[in-house]
Amino acid sequence: MLNAYPPEENWDDHRALDAKAWPRRVERRFRLVPTTCFNCEANCGLLAYVDKDTGKIAKFEGNPVHPASRGRNCAKGPATLNQVEDPERILHPMKRVGDRGEGLWERITWDQALDEIGERIGRAFREDRRHEVMYHVGRMGDDSYMEWVLHAWGIDGHNSHTNICSSGARVGFATWMGFDRPSPDFANARVIFLISSHLEAGHYFNPHAQRILEGKENGATIVCIDPRLSNTASQADHWFSAWPGTEAFLLLAIARLLIENDTWDRAFVERWVNWQTFLAETRPDLDPVFDNVGPALLDHYAEYTPAEAARVCGIDEDRIREVARVCGEGLGGFAGHTWRAASAGNEGGWQVSRCLWFVTVLTGSVGTEGGTNANGWNKFIPVTPIHPEPQGEWNDLTWPAEYPLTHHELSMLLPHFLKSGRGRLDTYFTRVYNPLWTNPDGFTWLEVLADPEKVGCHVALTPTWNESAWYADYVLPMGVASERHDVGSFETHNGMWIGFRQPVLRRHGELEGESFNRTHEANPGEVWEEQEFWIDLSWRIDPDGELGIRRHFESRENPGTPLTLDEYYTMLFEGSVPGLPEAAAAEGLTPLEYMRRKGAFALPGDQYRVYERDVADADLAGTEKDAQGVYRRPGTAGSYGSLDEINGHMPFIGDGSPAVDIAGEAKFGFPTPSKKLELFSETMRDWGWPEYATPTFIRSHVHWEDLDFAAGERILVPTFRIPTLIHTRSANSEWLNEISHRHPLWVHPGDAEELGIEENGLVRITTRIGHFVIAAWRTEGIRPGVVAASHHMGRWRLDEDKARSWGAGKASVEREPDGRWRLRREHGNQPYDSDEPDTGRIWWSDTGVHQNLTFPVQPDPVSGMHCWLQRVTVGPAQPGDAYGDVVVDTEASHAVFEEWLAKTRPGPGPGGLRRPLWFARPVKPKATAYQAD
Ligand code: SF4
Repeated sequence: MLNAYPPEENWDDHRALDAKAWPRRVERRFRLVPTTCFNCEANCGLLAYVDKDTGKIAKFEGNPVHPASRGRNCAKGPATLNQVEDPERILHPMKRVGDRGEGLWERITWDQALDEIGERIGRAFREDRRHEVMYHVGRMGDDSYMEWVLHAWGIDGHNSHTNICSSGARVGFATWMGFDRPSPDFANARVIFLISSHLEAGHYFNPHAQRILEGKENGATIVCIDPRLSNTASQADHWFSAWPGTEAFLLLAIARLLIENDTWDRAFVERWVNWQTFLAETRPDLDPVFDNVGPALLDHYAEYTPAEAARVCGIDEDRIREVARVCGEGLGGFAGHTWRAASAGNEGGWQVSRCLWFVTVLTGSVGTEGGTNANGWNKFIPVTPIHPEPQGEWNDLTWPAEYPLTHHELSMLLPHFLKSGRGRLDTYFTRVYNPLWTNPDGFTWLEVLADPEKVGCHVALTPTWNESAWYADYVLPMGVASERHDVGSFETHNGMWIGFRQPVLRRHGELEGESFNRTHEANPGEVWEEQEFWIDLSWRIDPDGELGIRRHFESRENPGTPLTLDEYYTMLFEGSVPGLPEAAAAEGLTPLEYMRRKGAFALPGDQYRVYERDVADADLAGTEKDAQGVYRRPGTAGSYGSLDEINGHMPFIGDGSPAVDIAGEAKFGFPTPSKKLELFSETMRDWGWPEYATPTFIRSHVHWEDLDFAAGERILVPTFRIPTLIHTRSANSEWLNEISHRHPLWVHPGDAEELGIEENGLVRITTRIGHFVIAAWRTEGIRPGVVAASHHMGRWRLDEDKARSWGAGKASVEREPDGRWRLRREHGNQPYDSDEPDTGRIWWSDTGVHQNLTFPVQPDPVSGMHCWLQRVTVGPAQPGDAYGDVVVDTEASHAVFEEWLAKTRPGPGPGGLRRPLWFARPVKPKATAYQAD
């Protein structure tokens, strides 16, 4: 298959026949410029085909030298072309002139935007209101440069979308091993265990999907847990359509069977698990010898029998035994993953990943060939070449005291905190992020974004219009994948790599002899790239250097002028990527030129069993071995030394201990307090959740035994995705919308009969704060008792002539006399005239239903993860209902917010800390900032 790609040596002058000229043979000349896809986190390689005659990008195909995607992409990769050519994209900076949300804008210059925004941020910094500046990102795109920017600004102002995405899964993995994600070696696995529709719509969709299929071809058994017959379930050898929220119970039953059948890897568990702590804490009556661990585990998990699991999960008991047998036969080769899905759906969902990792550990599959590695050992994050001191601040709006163990910011609660009077924002950046549409309870976001008292100035950095940008003060156009620089890496297989996103037309122009100061000179219109925006904005914030910010963004080659990206990436690639300078030199290139030519680099070396690596004596200098065998430096996080001392060596993750003693040898270990895998989490015990110190099942807020099915209650699953859509950016992709523009409600025929729902009939779904109206699809591919509708759909616009694109229906938003919000769809897609002839050929009208508006915030009290699954009442539409209707009561939603907040057990924890020092955190502050007031 790879032979079909143009050979690398021809990328500067590739010749191909023009398909559109057929049957004439017309040859065209292209330059192939590598970049990376920006339409999900996977960072697959792309080759942009630049037509040498027109100077335009003709198409995007896969980059065959990219080590993760290996020349292949999903539909969203080539659809990057749609985003470049979208007739509705924003090409110039815009400033609001009417009231917020009124939709009146004027075009302004970039200089005006930078001056005005820089001046207000500089004023906030000078007035010691640093906590009022916030950068809220949806899709990062780059792994490190925002840490440089925010540390330079000295603010704890980073915010993310993670607690509506993955903080649940992260807490479950991190409490075991320090790292917050798994990295399965699917291609070599003997058992592939997926809790979600991971194969066709998972997190690293294309790089993982191609390796899952390789594993299947090599004979792996695929197990899928999903209430829907997803494409993945249809490929599986064993599909468990378990009741949503019972997945952890099933996993514990499998774990127990592994022990009962004596098909677990005793040697691995004895060597790498903190079983001594487990015995001491749970069975002080037993001798602390390893032979007691198996019986103690059988006792500890006595209730998780196959029969009880079959009853609780609603699945077949023999099938559970069969899958446990297969897992036990494949010791060392268990490649498991869960992301979003159950861990993002349920109260206690973080225990799904904790229980999945339990099975990974028992099968001895941690970091093995065909097993599951830690993400940090397969993902490479280069250290930014400019590292200002971390901030000494702590932002309670994003890291509130109620959630000391959350993995990432409580971003979805921001509007509720602002409404509760916990603070205000002076300047709020949203970047590749549409909070009003993406989050639950979007009307509360609307209320806050429309209120200048709560959000003084909202700057939307976005290539396209969206529902939130409509309520912004400035809308600044940013580049899509072929119009910007980023460095990214993800854990896609055994190995480490980095991908380099670069502005294609700038690169092409430079190879043609042109020179550019800034990327926007080569991009369409006045589209900027973010990194240059942050550099120039930092200069406007601190024009005379008095704040000490400007110097971090100053050119080293030409002091007194802003840093250029060629300088930045020269420093990064020469100093922060092991093996790259040597590989580049072997081809007679600089590291930067190597990356510009190839678009990716695979770091040398093997990443299996990293924890078993020996640690040299020199690296142990200055350490002391504690009672658990951990080599600690006095004053590091693990020994709870002085926070001022720790400031000097705060790692992003772990406590900075270099090694652990394993059978008399100093080994690398895991970044946990014990440096081992933590079956018993002392952190969980010490921070207020002793009952969850070991892997366990937590009854979900949508547990089936609590539902009143006779009254029409069902479990709504709104978490699965359609693999051809991109969260909120699909609306600007012509081909993707033409392929996928509907998301009917999956409902089992038995349920449909009971509830009186016709095929394609309108259904009213009632949540705790409102309702929405959607069309039904009767299918046996869903578990009875469960209904489901995919996310990504239901985009809307308030203006008839703006933000039309390919997938945003025209809607109205009104407040009813009783205070409830009502969104009513006026019409769906319609053809329209533009410079792009295809807009006149739009044949589909459906744009879906914005269901997230009707979901209250339900943050898990431990992980902070939004519990997406909803306990709903399902029935036929009522008189007056129309497709796409959404009605919401935000007073009710605020009451639900307070109800869930009351479930938490706030910090501070041991030592008066706001959060365990060893937990990872984006843009980690100084250790002293962890001390609660
Ligand atoms: S999986 Fe698809 S959307 Fe994601 S980076 Fe790869 S090509 Fe792009």
